[in-house]
Amino acid sequence: MKTQLLLRHRIPAGGNLFHHATADPYHHFCALEGKLHADVCIVGGGLTGVSAALHLAQNGISVALLEAQKIGCGASGRNGGHIANGFSCELKTMEKMLGFESTKMLWQMVDSYLVNMDENILEHDIQCDRKFGYIYAANNSYQMRELASLNDRLKLKYDYQKTTLLNKADLGKFLKTTRYSGGLFDKTCGQINPLKYLQGLVRQLETLNVKIFEQSPAKAISQGPNITVHSEKGRIKSKFVVLAGNAYLNCNTPSLYNKSIPVSSFVGVTSPLSRALIQSILPRNVTVADCNKIPDYYQIVAGNRILFGCGINFLGKEPKDLKKVISNRIKRVFPQLTSFELDYAWSGLISSTINKLPHIGQINSQIYYAQGFSGHGVVLSGLTGKLISRAIMGDSKDFKLFSSIHHKELPPYPIKNIGLGIADFCNTLRQNF
Ligand SMILES: Cc1cc2nc3c(=O)[nH]c(=O)nc-3n(C[C@H](O)[C@H](O)[C@H](O)COP(=O)(O)OP(=O)(O)OC[C@H]3O[C@@H](n4cnc5c(N)ncnc54)[C@H](O)[C@@H]3O)c2cc1C
Repeated sequence: MKTQLLLRHRIPAGGNLFHHATADPYHHFCALEGKLHADVCIVGGGLTGVSAALHLAQNGISVALLEAQKIGCGASGRNGGHIANGFSCELKTMEKMLGFESTKMLWQMVDSYLVNMDENILEHDIQCDRKFGYIYAANNSYQMRELASLNDRLKLKYDYQKTTLLNKADLGKFLKTTRYSGGLFDKTCGQINPLKYLQGLVRQLETLNVKIFEQSPAKAISQGPNITVHSEKGRIKSKFVVLAGNAYLNCNTPSLYNKSIPVSSFVGVTSPLSRALIQSILPRNVTVADCNKIPDYYQIVAGNRILFGCGINFLGKEPKDLKKVISNRIKRVFPQLTSFELDYAWSGLISSTINKLPHIGQINSQIYYAQGFSGHGVVLSGLTGKLISRAIMGDSKDFKLFSSIHHKELPPYPIKNIGLGIADFCNTLRQNF
């Protein structure tokens, strides 16, 4: 049996990316040539693949990792760097879908993984600009009531005591805009430079002798007693395969491609701003996301610049006037920012599921996959990589909790494309007004 794998989109090699410009110069890994044996072959060099590789290698399992282009060229090296707890799906919706006990276990798993991430950053001295302090900002009184109810739910039902509700006046101490009705502050969430973080994990992989190959797209998987992943100039025989290509992987297995869609999101980074200007915008240097379904998300990053993410394109495309789209959103939130340049602007693909929960599972007993973090994957991708590695090592309890989440299929072509086209048109109208 053969599983065909393709790169969904050729990712632009350079791109005007702040993270790539500020991270360490790229360490290049050579392409795979010839035959190789490993216990596990991982397809995809983003946070999911690298995390799975790390947890396997730390337990003495031999790993080979194939990256189609460059480590971190996908979403993991082009995201907003927001470290947010939980899921893209709301907790009360999850409780209805999965029941309270399962939802609480999932929430606590993410929370503990976030603690593990910070321990690893400290232990391995990963210089990734980690900052603490996160605000969910309410655009209206309905969203404010929802935040108040989330705050109560977290404290009373989830034993999570790290949040504080902020009224409009309290919020004003953190954020100089009249746009919001209030917010919810979380002291352990915040931000990182995601590419610097990923590079730190890759350095750990190198010390553990993980074989890493770049410019080596996995093209097909054939199965026998061993499983073989075929690339352009070589192949890897292994006992297990982990598909960690997320939105950038196009796999011919219907259970994968029917359950998530690649949508694009946009990020821009301003030129350096004066201290006085920064004080007039984000005086306490917190990371912010608003509560809209398609949120604005922003923070101050290295060099006194503002990183601002926004918008979505349901067809996975990038607007021609990308800088203008982002600049307009910035001016709407901070009208006091009258003149600024965007030094960097880029887009990336988010793999989104219908219920906004990650889609994790197995194609068969040897092939595992993870996708569909729905724009909330900086923490979740690392966690799922860890859960897949534990399942491969024989402990599948937590993996099963995730993989038992039911995911609806998207409608087939052409209904899906017509639906996405309409969604995109409505979204463009929303962005313009
Ligand atoms: C613009 C943007 C902003 C975001 N902001 C945030 C945020 O602030 N906070 C947050 O929590 N989440 C955010 N996300 C989501 C988060 O970045 C992702 O969920 C996470 O990085 C997914 O990691 P991954 O390893 O699964 O996928 P990716 O990082 O996309 O890695 C997949 C890799 O697989 C490779 N690949 C694909 N097919 C093949 C093949 N056939 N052979 C070999 N390699 C292959 C690709 O080249 C790619 O490098 C954002 C995403 C985007 C795009």
